[in-house]
Amino acid sequence: MVWDLIIAGGGPAGATCARRAAQLGLDVLLIEKQNHPRRKACGGGLTPRVGDALDLDFSPVVEREQGGLRLFSPSGLAVTEKRAELTGYLVRREDFDHLLLKKAEEAGATVLEGITVLDVIETSSGVDVVTDDKTYTARLLVGADGVNSTVARRTQLKPRWRDDEICLCIEASVPMDSSDIERIFAIPDSSGRVFIEIYFGALRHGYAWAFPKREEISLGIGVLVSELEDLRGVWKRFVASFEDRYGVRVDLSNTTAARVPLKGPIKNTVTKRVMLVGDAGGFVSPATGEGIYYAIETGRLAAEVSKEILSGAEGMTTQTYQQRWRRAFGKDLDVANFLAGMMFHSIENMEAVCRMAHDDPVMRSHTFEMITGAVTYKESRNRLIKRMLRKHLGTAVKMVL
Ligand SMILES: Cc1cc2nc3c(=O)[nH]c(=O)nc-3n(C[C@H](O)[C@H](O)[C@H](O)COP(=O)(O)OP(=O)(O)OC[C@H]3O[C@@H](n4cnc5c(N)ncnc54)[C@H](O)[C@@H]3O)c2cc1C
Repeated sequence: MVWDLIIAGGGPAGATCARRAAQLGLDVLLIEKQNHPRRKACGGGLTPRVGDALDLDFSPVVEREQGGLRLFSPSGLAVTEKRAELTGYLVRREDFDHLLLKKAEEAGATVLEGITVLDVIETSSGVDVVTDDKTYTARLLVGADGVNSTVARRTQLKPRWRDDEICLCIEASVPMDSSDIERIFAIPDSSGRVFIEIYFGALRHGYAWAFPKREEISLGIGVLVSELEDLRGVWKRFVASFEDRYGVRVDLSNTTAARVPLKGPIKNTVTKRVMLVGDAGGFVSPATGEGIYYAIETGRLAAEVSKEILSGAEGMTTQTYQQRWRRAFGKDLDVANFLAGMMFHSIENMEAVCRMAHDDPVMRSHTFEMITGAVTYKESRNRLIKRMLRKHLGTAVKMVL
């Protein structure tokens, strides 16, 4: 059988692509190497725009709603911002990803789990996808196989990540009594929502986080590999300081290391018959590490372009996918890269950003809205620069020197 579309990988990018393509009437095969539900190292923080991007009800897997943020500067200065409205969702990735995969199947996609894509061979009429089971053939292939993408490697679209493009993380899923979680993270109002926490300064070009779920928290730390220095030591100190701050014992038995691409999308994400989506194409915000939103959006775009190509619509090629993501958020991710460069340039810059947010409610609000994705990075950059020039000129000058 020749499939219309094969998708390698069943994370948020692959599952969304499969669901949308099946809804559009394509014969879709999704090949996933693990068996869901599977553990995925992740904070599980979703910005509200994920809710807008997903046209399905994912409330059954939302563990907590976020209504605020606590930032800690390198020197320990705490900056708190909360809102009356919802500012994000917190999920366990095993549940969230499993739900999306089930929805893809319900829409009509065929899902094979426990099968690994090993190679990709483009022919004049289609693509052969070699797996550890057998070879499957399709007219088009979407590589949604994450940061260590076999599809990106075998097509030569991204043979390897450079050290200055990739972030190494340690993440622990830490069981915790919900009473402790509420004591530490609950917003003191009647909303039932929680703060998330971000810690700057343990490392240059990276940050640590604490994201609460119902009965566990995600504790993590990440840094660009090119800036890597004693990650394990920093991790131990971060965990110890968290324990001291909140009077809890942290069980690290469920700890993993994982990578995230952190310099934005690769330049070319397509060949004649292959499109890369999600982490496989580097679709993660360099400013915050948010990748789930971009995985969902690129998955959807690739499905829609596949449908148009296979229907013979005039002028439609995989290049159309490249043009559409570029138009939708490519430039904005370039701006995110600029903002990350400024922020993570030095420990002094991170301290300065937190200090401005601490002292100035307008800077605090702008920083919060950038992190929670309430406005585009372009809009954030313009607002932040304008405010800094008006109220924090000395700091602005020091940050760029
Ligand atoms: C520690 C950490 C914390 C993070 N926290 C957040 C956060 O809080 N919020 C956020 O928005 N983003 C976060 N991210 C980023 C986010 O996890 C990714 O951007 C997102 O998972 C990308 O989705 P994806 O579908 O492209 O890839 P993935 O979720 O990685 O899914 C890829 C799938 O492909 C499968 N696969 C891999 N190779 C093959 C193969 N050869 N054959 C078949 N299947 C294969 C894998 O098993 C996997 O299921 C975090 C990342 C890390 C590492």
